[in-house]
Amino acid sequence: MAAQRILIVGGGFAGLWSALSAARQLDQLGIGQDSIEVLLINRDAFHGIRVRNYEPDLTPLRVPLAAVLAPAGVRWLVGEVGPIDLAARTVTVLAESGPQILAYDRLVFALGSQLLRPKVPGLAEHGFDVDTYGGAFRLAQHLEALAQHPEAPGQFTAVVVGAGLTGIEAACELPARLRAVQERAGLAQPLRVVLVDHNPTVGSDMGDAARPVIEQALAALGVEVSLGVRVDGLDGSSIRFDSGEVLASSTVVWCAGMRASPLTAGCGVATDGLGRLPVDAFLRVEGLRDVFAAGDSANLALGDGHTSVMSCQHGRPMGRFAGHNAVCDLLGLPLLPLRIDWYTTILDLGPWGALYTEGWERHVVATGETAKRTKRLINGERIVPPMSGDRGEILAAAAPVIQRPPPIVPQGSQP
Ligand SMILES: Cc1cc2nc3c(=O)[nH]c(=O)nc-3n(C[C@H](O)[C@H](O)[C@H](O)COP(=O)(O)OP(=O)(O)OC[C@H]3O[C@@H](n4cnc5c(N)ncnc54)[C@H](O)[C@@H]3O)c2cc1C
Repeated sequence: MAAQRILIVGGGFAGLWSALSAARQLDQLGIGQDSIEVLLINRDAFHGIRVRNYEPDLTPLRVPLAAVLAPAGVRWLVGEVGPIDLAARTVTVLAESGPQILAYDRLVFALGSQLLRPKVPGLAEHGFDVDTYGGAFRLAQHLEALAQHPEAPGQFTAVVVGAGLTGIEAACELPARLRAVQERAGLAQPLRVVLVDHNPTVGSDMGDAARPVIEQALAALGVEVSLGVRVDGLDGSSIRFDSGEVLASSTVVWCAGMRASPLTAGCGVATDGLGRLPVDAFLRVEGLRDVFAAGDSANLALGDGHTSVMSCQHGRPMGRFAGHNAVCDLLGLPLLPLRIDWYTTILDLGPWGALYTEGWERHVVATGETAKRTKRLINGERIVPPMSGDRGEILAAAAPVIQRPPPIVPQGSQP
């Protein structure tokens, strides 16, 4: 075993890039993993491209950890992270081989977030989601099986609950997904997709300039919108609202909010309203000497009055700086502050295209097919780790630098 260990919990956008960045910095300093080991723990043997879970084709969404971590010289263990003992500097992991207690010298907490599931009757049993690969897979299987169900009201009615960004992306894909299921089975029944929210507007954070674009896309795709309503319950064939309305629906996709990993609560520091750990500009958890945090589990003040958003846009640079700084901290070297001076939102609007906004005020810079080219570039290239197996390329991609905003891609220049 190595003399010291940097332990990264979570293998999503923050954790994967944190591990690679730590490996890169050790490589730059000429320090072998026999002296300082980088070890990543993740629930799955793959890095999930979570932002694409709403898409119809789930094939490219699982990047094997081995394909990226092995060439970089990072060790990994598949298991469920349990209690963290900050005083003893250990993490309990339930691995396939049984429970293990792993010691660390520096910890990077990158366990991300999970869908908020309120205690709505029937949600746990009958609700679907696009929060995880497993959830997206179950939804895809369910949609495919609808054609085999006996004909019934609501058989091809899908309700998406939550008209935030995830709900909008999921809803925009569903008309075409349901139609494709019908076509494969030679059916042509009426289909409905309804997007519901208790808020009075769709995309409530998106502002007055961007919202009409979203509304236009939803209307063009035939997605109905029902606002100002709350869900009272669901039973697999219908959904009930607080208005008393009951809508026949075989498919309810829950997209109403995210919360940080519940394990943040065991870290002994006050978390924010989303359950996130407060971190300083170096990604160190405030008040904890040896613990860094990145991604959806961390709250970083961006210096412009805003804090980091639960997004891979912020999670990836947070991860890169956390991994780099964990190495520097261990070695007594200066740490790098993370400063991100731009913010964009590129929202997929299904076959209609996409919406690209800039800044916190969300100025619309591109819509339709133009914005969709940028979205494809992000989802298919920008956020995907190099798969070449080339150690140099993988480590270079993990440098603690801020990428520039995603470009507007000229027509014809993308595969
Ligand atoms: C459908 C959808 C669309 C989205 N679209 C966008 C978008 O367009 N742009 C954008 O910027 N963001 C988007 N997001 C948000 C984005 O996916 C998250 O902000 C991002 O994944 C956060 O990265 P993370 O590494 O912090 O967490 P995650 O990606 O959630 O990774 C956490 C990792 O830790 C693992 N883990 C968690 N708990 C444990 C445990 N106890 N033991 C072991 N392993 C554990 C998980 O399995 C996972 O691998 C979207 C999210 C969803 C669901």
